[in-house]
Amino acid sequence: MLPFKLIYHERYDLNLGDHVFPSQKYRLVYEELLRRGIADAGDFLAPAPATDEDVLRVHRSDYVRKLKTGSLSYAEVQQLEIPYSKVLIEACWLAAGGSILAGQCALRDGWSANIGGGFHHACPDHGEGFCVIHDVAVAIRRLQFDGAIERAMVVDADVHHGNGTATIFGGDDDVFTLSIHQLHNYPFVKPPSTMDINLPDGVGDVDYLAILEKHLHTAFSDFSPQIVFYIAGADPYREDQLGGLALTMEGLGKRDALVMEYARSNRCPVVITQAGGYARRVQDTVAIHVGTILAARDAAGKRAARG
Ligand SMILES: [Zn+2]
Repeated sequence: MLPFKLIYHERYDLNLGDHVFPSQKYRLVYEELLRRGIADAGDFLAPAPATDEDVLRVHRSDYVRKLKTGSLSYAEVQQLEIPYSKVLIEACWLAAGGSILAGQCALRDGWSANIGGGFHHACPDHGEGFCVIHDVAVAIRRLQFDGAIERAMVVDADVHHGNGTATIFGGDDDVFTLSIHQLHNYPFVKPPSTMDINLPDGVGDVDYLAILEKHLHTAFSDFSPQIVFYIAGADPYREDQLGGLALTMEGLGKRDALVMEYARSNRCPVVITQAGGYARRVQDTVAIHVGTILAARDAAGKRAARG
């Protein structure tokens, strides 16, 4: 049994068929956590879909209407890079509801993980790069609306820049956005985050971890978040098909532990979301996402042990 809740719904699967985005990974992570005895059935909560009111705090009403009525243009569907379907829209609203629920659980328990979400390329008026609606932004706006928090930090360690996050929270002093990513990769226009760490191609474990630690130190010196949303992409992995960094699985585990340690030592609740992961072997992507849960378990144990 874990000391925090995992959020998962069997309809998180975007049902993309034969696509580079293995959206069956959510189910595979869920099954692997149970199979390895890391979690038991009682550790999981199933979310309700986000309400349209929740989504509309982030996204424009004409975009939301097109999503719900299936009236995106051909160009808009092309920009998503995944096929439109009613099932897709249901999964995206569930993922956003999952990040809201994970945020609520983290504020109560210190930690929570959405076994989904992290759709950091979604922008207020359009979706792109496999991201339809920005679940993390929807969750932050909902927690602020409820008066549960004022200030949030997004730590985005997906190999791709968090352009949607940067666009949504640009100019908002209450949300600190940190993105560590490969410079020469999608998206090719990178609106400024509060802190952008542009990495050259091929960076490996040692350099990545040193650079991340230095910037986490500065970020937590400059800003005192009441919650951290950690976008724990699996795609900085050296075997990733859409990434050009060279982290090992061990290095990714150290990355996760580093983010957790900074949050823990600043007494800040953490919400984990999954984001990208396109390893040649889908089981590698699953192992990396499971590793992030293990890092949270270890960090939560330290907090409990030290009070
Ligand atoms: Zn990515």
